[in-house]
Amino acid sequence: MRAIVLISGGLDSLLAIKAIQKQGIEVLAINFLIPFLKDDLANNSIFFVKKITEQLGCKCKVITLAEDYLDMVKNPKYGYGKNFNPCIDCKILMLKKAKNVMSEFKASFIATGEVLGQRPMSQHKQALKRIEEASSLNGLLLRPLSALLLAPTIPQKKGWVKKELLFDIHGRGRRRQISLAKEWGVEDYPWPGGGCLLTDSNFCKRLKDLLKYDQLSIEDITLLKLGRHFRITSKFKLIVGRDKEENEKLISLAKKGDVFFEPKKMSGPTGISKGPVGQRLKDIAARIIARYTCLDKKVEIVCGTVSKRNQELILVKGMNDQQLKKWII
Ligand code: SF4
Repeated sequence: MRAIVLISGGLDSLLAIKAIQKQGIEVLAINFLIPFLKDDLANNSIFFVKKITEQLGCKCKVITLAEDYLDMVKNPKYGYGKNFNPCIDCKILMLKKAKNVMSEFKASFIATGEVLGQRPMSQHKQALKRIEEASSLNGLLLRPLSALLLAPTIPQKKGWVKKELLFDIHGRGRRRQISLAKEWGVEDYPWPGGGCLLTDSNFCKRLKDLLKYDQLSIEDITLLKLGRHFRITSKFKLIVGRDKEENEKLISLAKKGDVFFEPKKMSGPTGISKGPVGQRLKDIAARIIARYTCLDKKVEIVCGTVSKRNQELILVKGMNDQQLKKWII
């Protein structure tokens, strides 16, 4: 028999894989790459997931979520958590995607590492039930770590899994998971979760701003993770690098139509602006760049297009912090 187990990389999902393997069932671990992962995770998660699943002795598949994930974030049926995290809809989307590959892998059911009562929005009894119903898994979704506290699933009723190898873990504590990990020799669990930017209040302010002006696309999400952001008008915004690495990233991400702002003879930040720009907006952008270049005297700021970055020279004094507050997101 085979089952699919969703793997996030956190300890609970690794224990879920182990719990299913201990039942003598072959596991395909599925990891979802969402557009809102912190950069260090986004860059390394495929490597980590492959490494862990190799150690656990199971196959793994990585599914990238893009436009459909964005659509869900813009309009989640079950709303947002404390920040902009649509956890219930997010899980439903992942489970629907996993359900689509059940027949390809000849899987009889799906399991997750969800623990009853661990997260306020998506892991109380009603939410777990809603997630199962909305993903149309109808009894084929097993949460082995909390299964003894939940309604019996088809794998339990049909005897595909043994009761003795299911658990009644609940709540936010980690004690039982850590002791199970020790008992089962699961030592290498590189990240404890928490890599989703939709739970980060600063990131979410920027995200809400783009949504408000209907300017969110997959490419913009990379930019949201970088620099300082300034909303000047409904159509015009400026993003300013905070260090050399961010300046270089901004340059590499600039698109046709974006305008660059950089100090001419001094070291300082690179800024790129999005949206149509007239002289007044250029002056504001130049003053913001000057603010992060030199505080006490006028600075020459060059601005120009992606193909010619030094088309125009603007001499300005840096904006003061009170003015800056008006624009910063
Ligand atoms: S924290 Fe992020 S990735 Fe995790 S369930 Fe919520 S929205 Fe999805």
